[in-house]
Amino acid sequence: MTDRPLTLMAVHAHPDDEATGTGGILARYAAEGIRTVLVTCTDGGCGDGPEGVKPGDPGHDPAAVTAMRRQELQASCDVLKISDLEMLDYADSGMMGWPSNDAPGAFWQTPVEEGAARLAELMRHYRPDVVVTYDENGFYGHPDHIQAHRITMAALEMTTLTPKVYWTTAPRSMMQRFGEVMREFAEDMPEPDPAEAAAMAKIGLPDDEITTWVDATAFSGQKFDALAAHASQGENIFFLKMGKERFGELMGVETFVRVRDTTGAAVPENDLFAGLR
Ligand SMILES: [Zn+2]
Repeated sequence: MTDRPLTLMAVHAHPDDEATGTGGILARYAAEGIRTVLVTCTDGGCGDGPEGVKPGDPGHDPAAVTAMRRQELQASCDVLKISDLEMLDYADSGMMGWPSNDAPGAFWQTPVEEGAARLAELMRHYRPDVVVTYDENGFYGHPDHIQAHRITMAALEMTTLTPKVYWTTAPRSMMQRFGEVMREFAEDMPEPDPAEAAAMAKIGLPDDEITTWVDATAFSGQKFDALAAHASQGENIFFLKMGKERFGELMGVETFVRVRDTTGAAVPENDLFAGLR
């Protein structure tokens, strides 16, 4: 149809989000010969440090965390066979309400138009056929995820090149199974506080509102290994504890809501590139 490769662009907030949310599709589409472009918006400096030092604790050095996570991101990209990694290198804003939300250079403080203009440049360069990012709540309310959503949607408006656009989501049926597995593998974890539990309950969508189910179970080993590359981040350890097989059963199918389509492909669909090849 064209003289350039079919291209998938995933826009993520932090190093490791590419693996958790879209590791399956990135690995699967790379194996199908599709060019895969990952845009990571922040440096992940508010993540856990070496030896599990938490942000805000003494000895947490954002510069050291950033350097470590840059290497982890590269290792994850190698596992997932990502064609092109682009980093916008904004400072990680931390969780909602943290003082780092207001720090100079924080992604959350960056005007949407500025971030969008930089992302639009990348879109003009790669001309992605499919763009994937988060919904307007950033899937779970993290400011950098919300901001990644905002700059992506603004950049898409500026470029109008991309026929298919998706937001990551999770079916409620899966969230329920996820909760059960979590209790099984994380019995030493404290019960979530009510606010956290209420936030979790709002994540995802009823199954019949999901437009796109992509089976990447055959690539869940790569997804697991990509997450293992980010083992310094405490929240990933839960997934790794599950082991590859259980992980593949739970996390092998990735789901999306299609929010733009100019191809006319029917939904529900099982391929982000339906109508494009
Ligand atoms: Zn993130």
